[in-house]
Formats: sequence, C-alpha cells, structure tokens
Amino acid sequence: MATYNKITPEIAAQLRAVVGERRFFGKDDVDPNYSHDEMPIYGRYMPDAAVDAETTEEVSAIMKICSANKIPVTCRGAGTGLVGGCVPLAGGLVLCTRRMNKILAYDMDNLAVRLQPGVLLKDLAADALTHGLMYPPDPGEKTATVGGNISTNAGGMRAVKYGVTRDYVLALTVVLADGRVIELGKSVCKTSSGYSLLHLMIGSEGTLGIITEMTMKLIPSPICDVSCLVPFRDVESCIKFVPKIKLANLDPQSIEFMDADIVASSAAFTGSPIFPERVKNEDVGASVLVTFVGSGEDELDQKMIRLGRIAKEADALDVLVVATSSNKKSVWAARSGFLTAIEADTKLIDEMDVVVPVDKIPAFLIHIRSLGEENGIRIRNFGHAGDGNLHIYCCSDDLEEDEFKRRVKIIMDKAYAKCAELEGQVSGEHSIGHAKMVYLRESVGEDVFGLMGEIKKVFDPDCILNPGKVCDVSLTGREGRRQPC
Ligand SMILES: Cc1cc2nc3c(=O)[nH]c(=O)nc-3n(C[C@H](O)[C@H](O)[C@H](O)COP(=O)(O)OP(=O)(O)OC[C@H]3O[C@@H](n4cnc5c(N)ncnc54)[C@H](O)[C@@H]3O)c2cc1C
Repeated sequence: MATYNKITPEIAAQLRAVVGERRFFGKDDVDPNYSHDEMPIYGRYMPDAAVDAETTEEVSAIMKICSANKIPVTCRGAGTGLVGGCVPLAGGLVLCTRRMNKILAYDMDNLAVRLQPGVLLKDLAADALTHGLMYPPDPGEKTATVGGNISTNAGGMRAVKYGVTRDYVLALTVVLADGRVIELGKSVCKTSSGYSLLHLMIGSEGTLGIITEMTMKLIPSPICDVSCLVPFRDVESCIKFVPKIKLANLDPQSIEFMDADIVASSAAFTGSPIFPERVKNEDVGASVLVTFVGSGEDELDQKMIRLGRIAKEADALDVLVVATSSNKKSVWAARSGFLTAIEADTKLIDEMDVVVPVDKIPAFLIHIRSLGEENGIRIRNFGHAGDGNLHIYCCSDDLEEDEFKRRVKIIMDKAYAKCAELEGQVSGEHSIGHAKMVYLRESVGEDVFGLMGEIKKVFDPDCILNPGKVCDVSLTGREGRRQPC
C-alpha cells in the first residue's frame, strides 16, 4: 500500500512560491466543498491544501514539488462529477483548474478551438456559436469544465448522432506526475501513428496526468432543429421504437427516454407538467424525446412525416411536436432537470450509469424495478435511449443513511451482475472514480484490471495522481475503502 507525506510548512512555502499567496489555500482555508463532488454519499475527504493553477508551467512546477515529496495530487474541475472522482481520498493537494478558463484561439480553416481545461462547457458552447460553430458534446451539467468532460469522457444527449467528448479531442497538453510536459495528438483529421496515448489520457480521470490545454474539434452549427415527444403505453414498445428511428435513416441528434415515474417526479418538481401523463385517454407508460437537426425546414418536415409514419406502425399513442421556441426551452429544461427533480424529493441518492445494448433496456429496467420493490427502495430512472445509457437513481426517502447504504449495496451488486449478463458496461459516461471501482474490476476481470494498474504505474510509479481511483488499489490494498475523515 502506498504511503504519502504531509504538506509541511516548507513544502507549502514552495507551492506558495509557484502560485502566489492568493492562490494557495492551507488546510483551514480550503473550500469545504472540495471534500466531495455531486455525490457526497461516497464520502467526504478534505485535502491538506489546495491551489488554483493558471498555466501549464505552474502545474509542472507544482507536480515537480509534489513528486519529489510524495504528496498526492487530485485535480478538480468544477466538482460536478458523480463518482467521487475529484475527491482527495488520500488528502494531500487539490489542484483546481477553475482559473485556467481561457478560450485561446479558433482555427476556422481546420474547424478547431484551443482552450484551457477550466473553460465551462456552457461557455465553450456559447462562444463557438458566435463563430457559427457547434461543440457537439452536450452532457447535462453545463457548468462542468471541458477538462473534466475530457477526463471523464463525458457523453450527453447528442451522443447518438455526434459521439462523445473523446470524438472531439484533437490534441492535449498534459503534465505528468513528475512534472514533465508532453504534447499528445495534433490538429489533424486522422492518425495511425503508434499507440494513442491521447485516447488513453481521455477518460483517465486525472490518474495519468493533468490536462492543461486542449484542441477540440468543432462542426458548422446546424441551421434548424425540431424535437418531438413520442408517448407509448409501456416501456417495452417505447424501447422497441428506438432502433426503428435509426433504421429509417432519420439520423436523430438525440433520443431521450423517460418513464411515467420520472415524468411524475419532474411535474411535482417544476409545478407544471411538461411531459404528458395521459394521451388520448390512455396512461403514458414511457416516452422518447427525439430531436432532429438539419439545414432547412423542408428537411425537418420530411423527417417528422417519416417519424410519424413509423411511430404509428409502432403503436405510439401520438407524435407531439415541440413547436414553439419557448416550448422547446421548457421541454429541454425539464429534461435536463430530471436529476435535480429526483434530488429535491429525497434526502440521499445513489446512482448507476450503466450502458447496455439498446434492445436490452427493457430487461434491465424490469430487473431494476423488481430489485427496488424487493428491497423497499424507490428507484427513478431516465436515460439516453439512443445509445443504451441508463441513469438509475436509488432514493433514500426517510431511511437512515446506514440502512439506505446497506440496501443499496444489495441492489447495486445484483444490478451490475445483471448488466454484465446483458453484455453491458459499468459506466456509459459518468466514469469510475472510487465509487464504481469494485464493479469495474468485476466487469472487466482480473487480467484487464491488472493491465490497467500496470499502465497507471508507467505514468505514475508512486501513485501520487488521484490515488484510489479507477484501477488504483494503492490506498485500499486489493479490497475495501478508506473511511471518510
Ligand atoms: C445535474 C448533472 C447532470 C449531469 N449530466 C451528465 C451527462 O449528461 N453526461 C455526463 O457524461 N456527465 C454528466 N454529469 C456528470 C459531470 O458533469 C461530468 O462527469 C463532468 O465531466 C465532470 O466535469 P467537472 O469539471 O465537474 O469535473 P470534476 O468533477 O471536478 O472531476 C471529474 C474527474 O476529472 C478529473 N479532472 C478534472 N479536470 C482535470 C484535468 N484538467 N486534468 C486531469 N483530470 C481532470 C478529476 O480528477 C476527476 O477525476 C452530470 C452531473 C450533474 C450534477
């Protein structure tokens, strides 16, 4: 098991010399929120100190100091992660990128933008639009940093058409554990040039290096879009409709799934029902929200007509076009607010973010429902039906924390086993952090998990980068978790 050193007054002085007094925070001055991300149920761990870095050179100097003194370093973007990824399990230093928030340059000829990791997703998306360009990845939490998105390989609602964050990373500047600065990738459309360390870095959750600059691919912004809500009597017929949309060559931008329970939670939260619970005198069991983009109204009209035709064949209750821009805004705001609506209704939540083959979604959801009922836990779910990525939330309601965690563990163990049986994967987009490490290991098996650990050691032999995450068992030994401080 790894052992680490504390940040002594001498080491603190060296760090202060790099970032200056105002950007160094000693133990008593660290923001208490740095002890957790958006899932505090996975434990709170305070660092010994924190710094706000501003440049690659500063990050390199910080890593040299921490490497020489064996101080653990956990990188933090906006802290919106859902797996305890940016939580400093071993104490040490939190290196925050929030001040590395500059969009540096657009390359209009190569449709690319160079930026720092602390730029927020919403700021990049809005700024790109002013250049007539679109940044396609669209994860739900717009205040996440783009550096965090790369480090978790965030997905989002447009993945069904455009892919995920990984597909938009052209090049990265990375500071390694020992402070060396490396450049990975180039602003080119394709490459077949040795092992792709670029793609290894993407989704590595701050365990292999700190991303300090990146070049991201952009696309011309679509001219218009339209969303349609297609309600069904039950989940099964709703999910069976999903491949039909793709097979009809309609090329949707997103296909979002919602069942009756999440629609009811959303209505209770917003106070005004956005998604219909009854259509044509029938209860809606589940719906998909489908969005198309195009270069003109005619193209979208054609797509809607064809959608209507296949929806009728699939026994949909209706096809409701989200017509006005204010309707569109409220529909997507309500969809983006599902997690907030769930959180508003309960003391604690735990979540899973599995991805299964699309046709296996109903089998998985039926299993989850029965696990919830057997264990007396209310479960809410929604997901990206177009790519089989499901967000499952267990709600504690009035249960005490210990009892909630005990029951949730039973549910999670069985649910991840079911996911494996259905040929799914542990995480579609939220990544592993420390919360899902045990399930990653079970899912990929000892050989693959062991190889991941060997790769980690090549990049970070002393395991100082984000200890205890993804595949790093240096804190826990082979099993278990440290206790929260
Ligand atoms: C309401 C809500 C909705 C969400 N919806 C989605 C969704 O639709 N899709 C999705 O994929 N996720 C979603 N998320 C999860 C979260 O927003 C993403 O995981 C996001 O990518 C985290 O970015 P962050 O800046 O907050 O990173 P943090 O939480 O600060 O960190 C996440 C991980 O990245 C590492 N990291 C951060 N910056 C760097 C860097 N510069 N270099 C190296 N490592 C770094 C951290 O060490 C940590 O391991 C949602 C979260 C919430 C709260």
